[in-house]
Amino acid sequence: RAKDSGKNRYVVYDKTMHTEFNERLHLEKHLRGALENKEFELFYQPQVDIAGGQISGFEALIRWNSPELGFVSPLAFIRIAEDSRLIVPIGEWVLREACRFLGDVQAKKSCTYKISVNISVIQLLQDDFVEIVLDAAQESRIEPGCLELEITESVFMESYERIVGKLERLKAEGFRIALDDFGKGYSSLSYLQQLPLSTLKVDKAFIDPLTEDAYSQTFIRTIVALGHDMGLEVVAEGVERSSQLEILEHTGCDKVQGYLISRPVPEKHALELLNGPGNGKVC
Ligand code: C2E
Ligand code: MG
Ligand code: MG
Ligand code: MG
Repeated sequence: RAKDSGKNRYVVYDKTMHTEFNERLHLEKHLRGALENKEFELFYQPQVDIAGGQISGFEALIRWNSPELGFVSPLAFIRIAEDSRLIVPIGEWVLREACRFLGDVQAKKSCTYKISVNISVIQLLQDDFVEIVLDAAQESRIEPGCLELEITESVFMESYERIVGKLERLKAEGFRIALDDFGKGYSSLSYLQQLPLSTLKVDKAFIDPLTEDAYSQTFIRTIVALGHDMGLEVVAEGVERSSQLEILEHTGCDKVQGYLISRPVPEKHALELLNGPGNGKVC
């Protein structure tokens, strides 16, 4: 930062910084050709309706298998894709591919399922974002109500007005909007009132500490009640133990997602989960 570089300031060569920078450049270089080379795949993690114990839908999660780098976690490349704006074409591919998957599922099964897609704030800033979402849904013949767009609080750090306007248009078209990672980082309760939401996804950070101890359940109980009072569906993320599921059931939380049910799996496996012995009944 320019204002920090006063007279008395000197910069020490930082080796960690240097390697991190090179690492980013390296990733970005390979990321550039990844879409064209078909190196991305979507995995699907089931979401389960607690009351019925049935799979109600899936969250689509991107996977990158680079011939040069091997499997790279989205935690390592989404940020770089955002900074380089590569997230715009990658994100559009994710949206269309996830809709295509759901369209195929709906064609085979009589039930209606939902698909949740993570959307970057950079995508939301594109002028044609609403049209792309409408087109992706129409192309795959899925009802807008079956497509949920997951956003994070980072929408508040960018051109807020422009983004909220788009979210309102999408909501009016019937699409669902979820606030992801609620409770992680700097989420503020006032966000809940300012966004046209359908769903609240409670971050794993609130699920991890859940034990039989009543005190550990205070936050989750309050969040579920708050979400419901606001007319939102509440989904718990990162559920790993059956004891957590039991507690969530008592709080009235609507849905769960986590390793307890299933890890994110490739498309073929996701279809098998729906066609399994319980016909999608998993708990
Ligand atoms: P997220 O949207 O909050 O997705 C949930 C993450 O938690 C996923 O990590 C999932 O594999 C992981 N997870 C689910 N259940 C459990 C559990 O029980 N225990 C633990 N330890 N982890 C669990 P993943 O797939 O590595 O994705 C990480 C993040 O990368 C996502 O967090 C999302 O922010 C971002 N991301 C993934 N795919 C996309 C994408 O297509 N577009 C965008 N813009 N971001 C994406
Ligand atoms: Mg998500
Ligand atoms: Mg999340
Ligand atoms: Mg997230």
